[in-house]
Amino acid sequence: MTVHGEPVAAPVVMAATRRGAGPGPGGRGPRPVPGLHVLAKPTGPICNLDCDYCYFLAKESLYPGDRFRMTDELLETYVRQLLESQRDEPEVTIAWQGGEPTLMGADFFRRAVGLAREHARPGQRVQHTMQTNGTLLTDEWCAMLAEHRFLVGISIDGPPDVHDRYRTDKRGAPTSGRVLRGLRLLREHGVEHNVLCTVHAGNQDRPLEVYRYFRDELGERFVQFIPIVEPVAPADGGEPPAVTERSVDPDAWGRFLVSVFDEWLRRDVGEVFVQHFEAALASWLGVEPSLCIFAETCGRAVALGHNGDVYSCDHFVDPEHLLGNIGTGHLADLVTSPRQQAFGNAKRDALPQRCLDCRVRFACRGECPKNRIGLTPDGEEGLNYLCAGYLAFFTHVDGPMRLMADLVRRGRPAAEVADVFARAGRNERCPCGSGRKAKVCHQRPAVDPARARA
Ligand code: SF4
Ligand code: SF4
Repeated sequence: MTVHGEPVAAPVVMAATRRGAGPGPGGRGPRPVPGLHVLAKPTGPICNLDCDYCYFLAKESLYPGDRFRMTDELLETYVRQLLESQRDEPEVTIAWQGGEPTLMGADFFRRAVGLAREHARPGQRVQHTMQTNGTLLTDEWCAMLAEHRFLVGISIDGPPDVHDRYRTDKRGAPTSGRVLRGLRLLREHGVEHNVLCTVHAGNQDRPLEVYRYFRDELGERFVQFIPIVEPVAPADGGEPPAVTERSVDPDAWGRFLVSVFDEWLRRDVGEVFVQHFEAALASWLGVEPSLCIFAETCGRAVALGHNGDVYSCDHFVDPEHLLGNIGTGHLADLVTSPRQQAFGNAKRDALPQRCLDCRVRFACRGECPKNRIGLTPDGEEGLNYLCAGYLAFFTHVDGPMRLMADLVRRGRPAAEVADVFARAGRNERCPCGSGRKAKVCHQRPAVDPARARA
């Protein structure tokens, strides 16, 4: 299962998600946990930057006076337990995130690679991944990442003026120059990488500019978009949801995804991996998406703190969702505990009636529970703040997704969908099935909302 905010290997569309748990060969050791995914934070929330919207910096208050460094002893415990719980899997991912994981120094990750070799079973492949802000990458770092074939996610919000709006360092200085230098080093050393872009008030109206910057100026082929939603208490007498000013607007989020999708459909299917579109295609194919927010249930993606504490999810690092510590319990037992199963099932079981009746529920699934801070028109709690955006996006992509799913089922490349749309006459009905003319539907020229208003 893939969690928001980590590098991903592609393509994932056809990778069927394995479910259920059972005894491993010989029945020895802890119960194997298929689909387990751990986001490990070796520096806890500690980071060298001070991005305005970072939800994790505030977690420092959970551990007052702590040094926030994972010890070598705990590193060994973690890698061993993770591989024990994944002993039936042909491939295991060891995922590092932060805070900023590069603050640990490259030797920490060399040790992690060595421990993984020691504890993996013969023939088992271990993929190491890291999500970083990229500012501390050096030649030495990138040589190590390349040598051990790390998959690196690097956080960039778009062209420098967009990126620097919220992603600043502790002195409030812009960071885009340092990030782009890190990206260049990754490229020079041949390190496989993804771009992770948060979408917020500062770039929500510039989807094409942002996407084309990644594709054309940076030459990136793997992009993830993450909506920023920061809840705040409603003003006196106000109703939920209330969010910070920099949070993405739900309608703008829908327009952002639609604009990028239309551009991608015209020329990039099969060439550029956009995580939301891959996940959507999986849903149209009837395959469980690997992106947890669009899965029916979750709970197999936990967060591991620098001191061994395990939390239900990276977005629920709080005392209420502390499952235990790997120093005193086994990771596999914590993840399969009734409490964590209830957490994961609540994603499906707590959906409001509006979602249960929704025509795109098979793809949206009410998205992530952390964003379910709104009320339905009937006043029922638990509607996703981003609902309007997702409804617009999934409705818009329905026709093309049906065509792509049909191509894939017939063993054809999904990229052929671009030909279907290109062949249609401008005044003919759009191949998406909307009933509208192609020129006002999927052949409409793409323009950023910000430019259209200018
Ligand atoms: S709460 Fe569930 S859906 Fe949301 S990020 Fe965590 S694992 Fe994914
Ligand atoms: S689009 Fe809205 S109503 Fe439909 S499943 Fe998603 S959050 Fe629920």
